[in-house]
Amino acid sequence: MVSFLRLYLRVLGYLGSQKRVAALLVAANLALAVAAFAEPVLFGRIIDRLATAQGQGRPPSWEELAPLLGAWAGFGLFTIGASVLVALHADRLAHRRRLAVMSEYFEHVLHLPLGFHIGTHSGRLLKVMLDGTNAMWGLWLSFFREHCASFVALFVLLPFSLVLNWRLGLLLMALVVVFGVVTAYVLKKTERLQGAVEKYHTDLAERASDALGNVPVIQSFTRIEAESQGLRDIIDRLLGAQIPVLSWWALTAVATRASATLTVLAIFVVGVWLYMQGLATIGEIVTFMSFATMLITRLEQVVSFVNYIFMQAPKLDEFFGVIDTAPTVRDRPGAVDPGRLSGAVEFQNVTFSYDPRRPAVADVCFVAKPGETVALVGATGSGKSTTLGLLHRVFDPEHGRVLIDGHDIRDIPLIALRRNIGVVFQEPMLFARSIEENLLVGKPDATEEEIAIALERAQAQEFVTRQPDGVKTIIGERGRSLSGGERQRVSIARALLKNPPIMILDEATSALDATTERLLQAALDSAMKGRTTFVIAHRLATVRNADRILVFDQGRIVESGSFDELVALNGRFAQLARAQFMTGATPAAAAAAAG
Ligand code: ADP
Ligand code: MG
Repeated sequence: MVSFLRLYLRVLGYLGSQKRVAALLVAANLALAVAAFAEPVLFGRIIDRLATAQGQGRPPSWEELAPLLGAWAGFGLFTIGASVLVALHADRLAHRRRLAVMSEYFEHVLHLPLGFHIGTHSGRLLKVMLDGTNAMWGLWLSFFREHCASFVALFVLLPFSLVLNWRLGLLLMALVVVFGVVTAYVLKKTERLQGAVEKYHTDLAERASDALGNVPVIQSFTRIEAESQGLRDIIDRLLGAQIPVLSWWALTAVATRASATLTVLAIFVVGVWLYMQGLATIGEIVTFMSFATMLITRLEQVVSFVNYIFMQAPKLDEFFGVIDTAPTVRDRPGAVDPGRLSGAVEFQNVTFSYDPRRPAVADVCFVAKPGETVALVGATGSGKSTTLGLLHRVFDPEHGRVLIDGHDIRDIPLIALRRNIGVVFQEPMLFARSIEENLLVGKPDATEEEIAIALERAQAQEFVTRQPDGVKTIIGERGRSLSGGERQRVSIARALLKNPPIMILDEATSALDATTERLLQAALDSAMKGRTTFVIAHRLATVRNADRILVFDQGRIVESGSFDELVALNGRFAQLARAQFMTGATPAAAAAAAG
């Protein structure tokens, strides 16, 4: 119950810039709730006048009824006006805030570190965004349209009815207690189950979006039936958890309805009895009957509202869970933008681990002078990507420091740091937009000429002109309409447009045909030219041309030096080179061939 209230208050607190409209709506609701009392009271008074007149054996006069009728009409008009105002502004407010919160969430999620995104499926994040904001929208809408007035009505109506006639008032109190106890009991019974339901909903979204992202695999491996069955299994489990919850709430509806009918009946019977004792007037009976129906409507609204929040609570919890995830990589207060860096990089005893039992990168030290090319080699999982991730602050080191031009990179604003570092990812990571839009990601204000030069240098001009709409061609989700080698060259062109002093290249491991390989190598060469470059190398030519080679093994640098030095050393690198770069050939022969 307490956690509910907290959730509810938090959602209401999310009104941001609309707080003043919200306050206005609350005030209007208050006025409406008060006006709603007037009606049954006036009605009771009119009945009493009529009854008195009848008792005196004379027709009632208009003079004694007119003020009451006039007041009634006045309240009626006021209620209509205020309701229209509330309905109109409540809807606008809810829609505005829903979209505003959605964009806040989106921006927040984009700020979250890659470490978070690696562990969280994009389908889940999308589902949480849509469901969470929808739940908030519903909450705001129903609060400002109905529930605010309902709560006020309950708190004002009950004491007021006690003043009018305490015996009948107590009956209404009993009704409220019954509603409250039943609702609280059902909430307690079903809370855990509803949490499970939401978990299955999220699984469903994740599974569906995962499958939709891999349609080619599903079709070619004839997995359609299996994937559909997988989804149906989740649906079965979801329904298995949802149905009991629904049964409990149906039971609540029956229980509250029954107690409502009993209460109306009891008010009538007790009222008549009190009238016969001379303890109540006919008008009071009429007033209380109206009170009872009004109260029942309000109570039913409140219960259905509690039910609604209850059903949405896990969605909101998930939503706030993401919102409350703080970016671990953040700007330090007082971080100063150093402008364009020259690209001198130094790692000082850098250690980082994903898993506390075993560091992914341990005690890494090296220096790269501006303009140098450093190749990182080593078996998969030896820590090469992690090391370069530390350079552009995907993570921060646990121990040690990373310096660029003598600045600890944590003292440079994140945006400034990343402006200085270009990354060509192993997977090209393209947007489902036009080639041009993908390139403009590198430099939003690039001219057509600059784009053409970048494409030329990335060896991409030729295939781009072959596309049906040239640079305006839309390339499908993740660039699916291009071949692997073409995607890589577009992503290199994108990094070239950015023209940063430091470049990180994660060479694609996929084997390419000789022509593409040669084109790609030329593209990479131009990406390296004139800047400090770190390349995770899978090709002999890259390693051969590097100024320095860092050999990684289990997160540590075990050897470093130039190609010739390392070959002469005949240690780990020579062994690796024989296995990885030049199967069958001796390093010396390969060196001769490559040189
Ligand atoms: P490389 O690039 O040399 O193949 P990585 O730097 O990717 O190696 O990985 C180093 C180690 O860290 C590996 O053991 C890998 O399993 C682990 N690792 C990499 N990324 C993650 C991650 N996001 N979460 C947990 N462990 C990871
Ligand atoms: Mg890697």
